[in-house]
Amino acid sequence: KEAGIGYGSVNHPVDRDPVCGYNGIIGDVCPKCGRTESDGVAFERIRRITGYLVGTMDRWNDAKTAEEADRVKHSVMTR
Ligand SMILES: [Zn+2]
Repeated sequence: KEAGIGYGSVNHPVDRDPVCGYNGIIGDVCPKCGRTESDGVAFERIRRITGYLVGTMDRWNDAKTAEEADRVKHSVMTR
């Protein structure tokens, strides 16, 4: 509140490959079956927006899509 931040959240992106059923973080290549989206089937990418998990990003409007693009990824130090 003192820093002028009205809302903050930690989001955990979850992707799913509808072909093989893999759930987790998918970059360009599915870590389970090794396929890419170039074969015609898109990966499902579920993200939190305005506090809710609303399904995949393909129904987001421009403002929500821009907000997701501005997010900063953080990592947790592990040893
Ligand atoms: Zn897969």
